[in-house]
Amino acid sequence: MFDKILIANRGEIALRILRACREMGIQTVAVHSTADNDAMHVRLADEAVCIGPPPAKDSYLSVSAILSAATIAGVDAIHPGYGFLSENADFAAMVEEHKLKFIGPSPDHIRLMGDKIAAKKALSEAGIPVVPGSDGPLKDAEDARAQADTIGYPVLIKATHGGGGRGMKVVEDSSAVGEAFDLTTAEAEAAFGSGELYMEKFLARPRHIEVQVLADNYGAVVHLGERDCSLQRRHQKLIEEAPSPALNQMERQSIGDRVIGAVKKLGYRSVGTMEFLYEDGEFCFIEMNTRLQVEHPVTEMICGLDLVREMIRISAGAPLGFGQSEVRFSGHAIECRIAAENPDTFTPSPGRVDDYHAPGGLGVRVDSGLFSGYTVPPYYDSLIAKLIVHGANRNECLMRLRRALGEYVIDGLDTIIPLHQRLMNEADFVDGNYDIHWLQKFVDKEKT
Ligand code: ADP
Repeated sequence: MFDKILIANRGEIALRILRACREMGIQTVAVHSTADNDAMHVRLADEAVCIGPPPAKDSYLSVSAILSAATIAGVDAIHPGYGFLSENADFAAMVEEHKLKFIGPSPDHIRLMGDKIAAKKALSEAGIPVVPGSDGPLKDAEDARAQADTIGYPVLIKATHGGGGRGMKVVEDSSAVGEAFDLTTAEAEAAFGSGELYMEKFLARPRHIEVQVLADNYGAVVHLGERDCSLQRRHQKLIEEAPSPALNQMERQSIGDRVIGAVKKLGYRSVGTMEFLYEDGEFCFIEMNTRLQVEHPVTEMICGLDLVREMIRISAGAPLGFGQSEVRFSGHAIECRIAAENPDTFTPSPGRVDDYHAPGGLGVRVDSGLFSGYTVPPYYDSLIAKLIVHGANRNECLMRLRRALGEYVIDGLDTIIPLHQRLMNEADFVDGNYDIHWLQKFVDKEKT
C-alpha cells in the first residue's frame, strides 16, 4: 500500500480524499494556491505545499508545480479528484513517467473517453447503444446542416472535447445551423483548446441516468448501480439520487450487465461512470467519465462502500476482492449541491462565512471544507458543500432532507439552499416525476 499521497485538488473533494487516506493510515500532502492558505484541506493535511498564485492555470492546473511538489514531498501517488487535471491524459502519463501512480484509469483510457466521438464509437463496438448522431466530426457549417437534415430536428451541436455542460447548442431548424456551428466552434476553442464539434439528436424528455463501475487491474469489474442526475440547470447537475425512481430491478440489472461487459472489453481499471440518456425504456450512451464524480456519495450511501478507498487500493495493485453478488444496495440517497450563489439569479457570492452550522443526525452526511470565519475565494467553482442524505426509502430520504436543509446555517454569503428547499416541496420532484429539462423550466417559471 502507499505511504504518502499528494491530493491535486482543493475544496470538499480534497478533504474527501484526505479522509479516506487518513482512515487507511496513508500520509497526505495538500497542494494549494495562495488563495487557499487557510483552507480546511490544507490545515488537516500532514504536509502542505503552496504551488502558486490564485488563478487555477498557475496553481491547480500547473503540471510542473504539482509534479515538483510530489517529487519534493516524496509521495508514492497522486489523486486528482474531479475537475482540474483529473481528465488530462498527458498529466496522468507524466505522473507515471515520474515513477508515481496516478490514482485513476490508464492515460490511454482517459484520452479515449476525452474524445467523445471516439468514446461513442468504442462503446458502440462494445455493445452499448449510443445517442443517434453524426458519425464523426462536423467538417463545416454546410456539413452540419446536411447531417442535421438527416438526423432530424431538433439537434444538439456538441464539442468533441467538451465537459461541464459547456460547448453545447440546441438547433431547432435548418436556418439556425450556421450560426450555432460558428458560435459553438468559438466557444469550444476558447474553453477546451479544440473547436472540433459533433452532433446528436436532441432528445425531448430523457432522464440522465449513469452507472458507476469499479474495476481492478486483473479483469474484475462490478457495477454499483445507477444514479439519476436529471435535475440540471444549464446541463449541470444540481441534485442527484440513487437509485433512480424511474428504473425497475430488471432494467437496472440489464444496463448494469451491459456496462460490465463493455468495461471488461475495454480493459478499463479504477472508478468510471457511463452516462446515458434514458427515454421510453431505452438507454443511449452519451459519455464516460474517467474519474471520481461529484455525486459519488449517493452511491456510497446505498452500497456502504468507500469509492476513494477502492480507487486507492486498485491503484496500489490490490485486487477488487468482491464480486457483483456481494454488492448490496440498501435504501435511498439524495445529494443537494450547495453553491455560493444567489438562489434566484445564480450570481456567484464569494466572501466570508460569518457563521456556520452543518446539519447532522441519522443518515445525514455533509462533504464540505467550510467553517465559521472561512472566506470563499472568488477564483474557483462555486460549489461549497454537498448535503447527502440516506433513508430506508425515498420518502424517508425526502423527509430527512427537508429537515437537514432547514438546519443548515451558512451566514455571510448567498447560497442556493432556499432553492433546494423550494424543490423539496414540488409535487413533481416528490413524485420522482422529472426529466432533464424539468429543473430549467422550474427556474425559468419562478423568474416570471
Ligand atoms: P458534459 O460532458 O459537458 O457534461 P454531456 O454529454 O454529459 O456533457 O451532457 C450533459 C447534459 O446535457 C446531459 O446530462 C443532458 O442533460 C444534456 N444532453 C447531452 N446530450 C443530449 C442530447 N443528445 N439530447 C438532450 N440532452 C442532452
